[in-house]
Amino acid sequence: FITLGIETSCDETSVSVVNDGRKILSNTIFSQIKQHQKFGGVVPEIASRQHLEAITHVAQKSVEDAGIEFDDVDLVAVTHGPGLVGALLVGVSYAKGLAYALEKPLVGVNHIEGHIFANFLESDFAPPFLCLVVSGGHSHLIYVNDYGDYELMGRTVDDAAGEAFDKIARALGLGYPGGPLIDKTARLGDESAISFPVAHFKEDNLSFSFSGLKSAVLNYLNHQKQKGLPIIVEDVAASFQKAVVDALVENTLKAARAKNVKTIALAGGVAANSRLRDELTNRAGGEFRIQFPPMILCTDNAAMIACAGYYRFLRGIKHDFTLNAHASLNLF
Ligand code: ATP
Ligand code: MG
Ligand code: FE
Repeated sequence: FITLGIETSCDETSVSVVNDGRKILSNTIFSQIKQHQKFGGVVPEIASRQHLEAITHVAQKSVEDAGIEFDDVDLVAVTHGPGLVGALLVGVSYAKGLAYALEKPLVGVNHIEGHIFANFLESDFAPPFLCLVVSGGHSHLIYVNDYGDYELMGRTVDDAAGEAFDKIARALGLGYPGGPLIDKTARLGDESAISFPVAHFKEDNLSFSFSGLKSAVLNYLNHQKQKGLPIIVEDVAASFQKAVVDALVENTLKAARAKNVKTIALAGGVAANSRLRDELTNRAGGEFRIQFPPMILCTDNAAMIACAGYYRFLRGIKHDFTLNAHASLNLF
């Protein structure tokens, strides 16, 4: 059963062909990073235009790489939110056109559900588990009881983890996107050099907050500049990263114990962070099994959308041609 997945929620135009929900036949990702880099972040209007220019070529290439014909597709799955509405509309419109032309079913997928399902690709991993979804726009602790059965256990009250990485990278002059650059720079630094505070909530509260940490780093940088003191970028990056990772790991372990799960999974772009992967694995000890997708499936891609779409279809979910794009779309 062939699912063709389409993802255009932010700055990656991606089309993927997946067999039986889990086997990746192709996963073509056209990243717009270069187009947005000079602005230090994603420019929505440019993103939409780029998607429009790329989508047909990316889809063609994905089908070719998979060694199939468009006629072999059994299901079209597309991200319909959350994300940039103009960007999403390109994927949604293309998906509708394709499903109509092929006379095949269409299913809209929630992007965050897609990130979680990246864990099922090329693997026999299955619910129940606890998932820490940490991306550019979200920081959620989600208990996945079954396919389609989710419970939100905690979320950020302000910035997302990825957003914090991107903002601090910009303040340090490292560039965009910030996550991978901080990850790399931090390896050369001393993470105990500066002690940055992380917000703590009451014992049973699984919320995250990263805006106070962001201010603390910015204040530190201003203070050093004003006093003419040195700024060791590697140390700041490492100390900031440690603070984020500690906060993420602490709540994740708390939530996993509260739910009595055996397995903890990571998802979203920040799940590519090496320090987060190591710390969670170390602190889980023999208590939990830790699962994470390969790097390329952590950040935005259409294979995860095809996978989530396939499982939606199995649950009886289908959409008609009134399917629309939604900037905010709730999973719960
Ligand atoms: P959302 O999924 O919430 O809609 P998004 O799709 O823009 O947002 P993703 O593509 O899932 O986000 O992830 C991108 C984010 O991941 C960026 O903020 C980026 O800085 C961060 N990121 C990527 N690699 C790393 C890394 N190695 N360490 C930390 N952060 C990383
Ligand atoms: Mg991106
Ligand atoms: Fe994403």
